[in-house]
Amino acid sequence: MNFDLPPELAALRQQVRTFVDERVIPLEWAIIAEDKAGERTTLKALQADARAAGLWTPHLSTELGGRGLGVMGMCALFREMGRSSVGAAVFHCDAPDQGNMDLLAREASPALQERWLQPLVRGEISSAFCMTEPAPGAGADPSNLRTRAIKDGVDWVIDGHKWYATGGGTASVLLVMACTDEESGGAGPATLFAVPRDAVGVEHVRDIPTMAEPVLVHREAELRFHNVRVREEAVIGQVGQGFVLAQKRLVPARLTHCMRWLGLADRALELCKKQLETRTSFGKILSQHQMVQKKIADAVHGLHAGNLMTLHCAWMLEEGRTREARGYSSMCKNHVAKLLCDVLDDCIQIHGGLGFSDDMPFAQWYRHARAARIADGPEEVHDVVVARDWLAGKLTTLV
Ligand SMILES: Cc1cc2nc3c(=O)[nH]c(=O)nc-3n(C[C@H](O)[C@H](O)[C@H](O)COP(=O)(O)OP(=O)(O)OC[C@H]3O[C@@H](n4cnc5c(N)ncnc54)[C@H](O)[C@@H]3O)c2cc1C
Repeated sequence: MNFDLPPELAALRQQVRTFVDERVIPLEWAIIAEDKAGERTTLKALQADARAAGLWTPHLSTELGGRGLGVMGMCALFREMGRSSVGAAVFHCDAPDQGNMDLLAREASPALQERWLQPLVRGEISSAFCMTEPAPGAGADPSNLRTRAIKDGVDWVIDGHKWYATGGGTASVLLVMACTDEESGGAGPATLFAVPRDAVGVEHVRDIPTMAEPVLVHREAELRFHNVRVREEAVIGQVGQGFVLAQKRLVPARLTHCMRWLGLADRALELCKKQLETRTSFGKILSQHQMVQKKIADAVHGLHAGNLMTLHCAWMLEEGRTREARGYSSMCKNHVAKLLCDVLDDCIQIHGGLGFSDDMPFAQWYRHARAARIADGPEEVHDVVVARDWLAGKLTTLV
């Protein structure tokens, strides 16, 4: 077993790290401020530079203009990008486009790829994944799916209500999960459709006001589909395969979240060093207080464990052991999501009133990070998967 990165990947990782440190981090607040004012000038300039440096969509295959890195390679790079909250967007590796690109590349027909994937890869359009519905529809339990697609000649007619479709308000294409059971003229419980956002009957109800400030694509759209008519060609994969495809998308996409979250948690901890080494309280600098050291140690343990879990699961996916990787990806997602929240919470605590203020980035990052324990399936559901797989002997703790 060798934990060293291959030299070429190590060099690429260093290139991304330098780009993030020298170009992205100094401008991240300017990018966020511009975004609030409806501007993307600085982001677009950085994206152009990332592209010129050969760092655009590195996760994609070389045929699609990426570097064909594989999941392990993505780990190495996405952790670096995640050190800035806008880093992934600069390299066009942010959710949900990144997971949607991967899915379309693997499962969509050549015609759908031509129409949606190519412009998506070039960054000319954006996409959203629309699975979750307000109660009583699908959330943690996908079997509550209410959105229906009914077969009408060569068309499908989609009717339903979705929410938390990240970026759905501005996306050009919506990947929509709908029931296509036999009653609806379909072959299975659900099918995934590529629906143009401007199709007749797609209503953008609102962007949901949430705990976190909206930033870039991270605006949570509520959408209604009023008898939206799409052609047969809009089906991604096969009719009835929707849940299978969702799993294929969600398992690796979940892992890429972990990679980005690890990067942010690592940077947050690094940012504490100045406070730990300069702030004096009760005659000692903070880092000499044992209760503070405990916080540091917990964060360091958690980061290292989360990193190894992520690498291990990435290796399984790369080996094609996708089904087996599912429990590990759930474990990883829960561990890293909780770790990120805990690290940021402790960063706030270590900085006292300063940490609670927006003079430091922790509070803002925390407001976003809190979603990690809910999005992509709440942690309880992932715990169920972990327990179930462990009981069935499918998950080994001492690999
Ligand atoms: C920031 C953000 C971005 C998102 N982006 C997208 C997106 O792009 N596309 C998309 O389709 N969805 C998206 N989601 C939705 C997300 O996937 C759902 O919120 C999640 O799956 C949970 O569904 P729900 O909100 O309906 O919770 P519910 O299903 O109502 O569950 C509520 C709570 O009940 C508890 N619970 C549920 N089941 C169990 C169980 N079996 N055991 C114990 N407790 C349980 C949990 O505490 C859970 O949090 C996003 C969510 C957030 C917060």
